[in-house]
Amino acid sequence: MLMSKLQKLGHDPESLHYISKDFFELCGHLAYSARETAEMFIRIKKAVEAIGTGMDPSLTLYENNRYSPTRLSVVQKLTGKTLFFKMVQGQSLAEKKNILYTCENCANDMCIKRAEAKEHFMSFHQ
Ligand SMILES: [Zn+2]
Repeated sequence: MLMSKLQKLGHDPESLHYISKDFFELCGHLAYSARETAEMFIRIKKAVEAIGTGMDPSLTLYENNRYSPTRLSVVQKLTGKTLFFKMVQGQSLAEKKNILYTCENCANDMCIKRAEAKEHFMSFHQ
């Protein structure tokens, strides 16, 4: 249930596992209980929000296929503005995170990966 929700938002289990590993290892070293771990997670979240990541939190990434997406879109929920990215032709379908895309709104052939799509939106299409 949670996983399918996260995947709809464009996150994949492998990346989430990779990101979370250090955090849970740290909590392990500190001998934190599950409750203390959750509390630390909430505190970090609040700290990050306070600092501000510079990333628009209303940007959401969608993909047309969970396993080998050939088209991505980034939607700015506040404005409804949508940007599409298409897969660069001639790629053997490698790991999802390594597939290259080009922006359908840009005239150039600049290639980006899935993880860079939101950043592209912020940098060139705000
Ligand atoms: Zn673009």
